[in-house]
Amino acid sequence: MPAVRVAAERARVPVAVHLDHGSSLEAAVQGIRLGFNGVMVDASTQPLAENIARTRAVAEMAHACGVPAEGELGYVAGVEGEDADRHPGEVIYTAPEEAERYVRETGVDFLAVSIGTVHGRMRGEPRLDFDRLAAIRARVSVPLVIHGGTGLSDAQFRRLIDHGVAKINYYTALADAAGAAIRGNAQAVDRGSYTDLVRGSQDAICAEVERCVALWGGAGQAEAVLAACRPWREVEHLIFYNTRDLPEDQSRAMMAEGRRVLSAIPGVRRVVTGTSVADGAPYRHCWAVRFSHPAVIDSYRDHPDHQAFANGLFRPLAADRITIDFQHVLD
Ligand SMILES: [Zn+2]
Repeated sequence: MPAVRVAAERARVPVAVHLDHGSSLEAAVQGIRLGFNGVMVDASTQPLAENIARTRAVAEMAHACGVPAEGELGYVAGVEGEDADRHPGEVIYTAPEEAERYVRETGVDFLAVSIGTVHGRMRGEPRLDFDRLAAIRARVSVPLVIHGGTGLSDAQFRRLIDHGVAKINYYTALADAAGAAIRGNAQAVDRGSYTDLVRGSQDAICAEVERCVALWGGAGQAEAVLAACRPWREVEHLIFYNTRDLPEDQSRAMMAEGRRVLSAIPGVRRVVTGTSVADGAPYRHCWAVRFSHPAVIDSYRDHPDHQAFANGLFRPLAADRITIDFQHVLD
């Protein structure tokens, strides 16, 4: 994730780093801690009421961290990157009236729907239920998501987008493009090393991404998107403090407890504790708590674990303190 985040920050086009098929609330919390700025919760194998309850819990947590949430209703069978007929799970189509209730009760920001695609490689062109997609579109206003985009025709992609699909998951075709490049290398050389074999595989992925970006209408849109979006900026929550007559080992124990408790709060990316290098510094100790987003300033302050630690342990020992929230400034 650190490498992914750096690559996203360096890009001149807007990049979302999205957790795909998060399996639980804990997975979504962990994903946001690692730096994802979008999360999907997939409880689509559960009955509707359970799917709604699990998805709502993730969406509420994510929104308190400034992160949008994607939910899935209906079931898209298959496994990314594999032949679909090896995983013949039953496709469950999304019911439009359930979609309306699901979006209203969960508060999701994007809805993944099941209208005939499957994860992985299909034989022949899949048949898509566009009437169903139109009925879903008529009942929900959030952007729609298609999982299992591999193998659809250009005309099918255009029609999906015309029906309100704004995100298409497209892994298998990209993995296959790299696989084809590697197979070609293997046939061309007798004894290829790893570097001989993978040569050109990144270019093969790039070529297919470029084709899709153009086909799906994304080409040349970066500037307009950036103008409509707020930049993704983390916040440093800094506390400088002095403790009166507190033995060093108790001070360290309090810091260790704080790192343990506070780093588990949703939206906290990491907690660092420190002690001043110079003896005469106006404040002897420091907490540096990194938030994923400015929204965490409020949700962290009100979180019961933070309240318990701050009121029960920290504040009575550190009456002399200042707290400042700094937002990162990047050019
Ligand atoms: Zn998927």
